[in-house]
Amino acid sequence: MPELPEVETIRRQLDGALGGRRVVEAGSHPSAKFTPARDVTGARLVAAGRRGKFLLLGTDDGRELVIHLGMTGALSFHPRPDIEGDPYLRAWWRLEATDGRREISETMLFHDVRRFGRIRVVAAGEYETIPALAAAGPEPFDPDLDGRRLWLNLSKSRRRLKTQLLSQRPIAGVGNIYADEALWLAGISPFTTSIGLARATRLLEALRQVLGQGIDNGGTTFRDYRNLAGGSGSNQTALAVYGRAGAPCLRCGVTLRSAVLDARTTTWCPACQRR
Ligand SMILES: [Zn+2]
Repeated sequence: MPELPEVETIRRQLDGALGGRRVVEAGSHPSAKFTPARDVTGARLVAAGRRGKFLLLGTDDGRELVIHLGMTGALSFHPRPDIEGDPYLRAWWRLEATDGRREISETMLFHDVRRFGRIRVVAAGEYETIPALAAAGPEPFDPDLDGRRLWLNLSKSRRRLKTQLLSQRPIAGVGNIYADEALWLAGISPFTTSIGLARATRLLEALRQVLGQGIDNGGTTFRDYRNLAGGSGSNQTALAVYGRAGAPCLRCGVTLRSAVLDARTTTWCPACQRR
């Protein structure tokens, strides 16, 4: 599933590609998950933002086209797409050409094989109808976020640390891969239910490091994730624990273990990640 680095990679590419172009025509799969895509017909797409794992495409009439990629969602551009004959196309937006001429327009496509993605249109910044977005914690790279604030956010619950991170509430944008990587880097067990200020501070530093590296590497691609140009990320070669259960810990040499936590595979080092 795309996490912050993957969505941020797409956002950066979109920011250059949208350029304030008008949506000339739009369409979608009949599911209510995707039909709001049509609501921005006639509006210009003026900016590409991101909050956690959500893409926020601002329009010139004060709204936002909110796209969650789910597990297999991907955006791309095509000059002459086969709308009718494409079984995984869930939404599309035909954009005015960069020079304003309709005949050489191109279309932004949203493909989603497994249909866990979602599209919504809201007044800019008003996310009450999207609870996961409304409840999202601070952005990891928000300069106002420090170890103390993360510690306070984590102190609101006694659930396991990894469960809390995946909930998006203490901090936004972290999913299974980057949670495992950051917890390993910080030397903290994913099963811990309470950490102090010092470890919360170390965890924030670790989260920033692994997410920053993920962005620098254009995201992590194991199977589905593709950027706007259809390319893969390269961060999968830089992971220390995710996908390495049974291999030796890169820090202490002890065999990494894995277990299912919250229906997701968690990988950790039983020796150097303490409870
Ligand atoms: Zn270790």
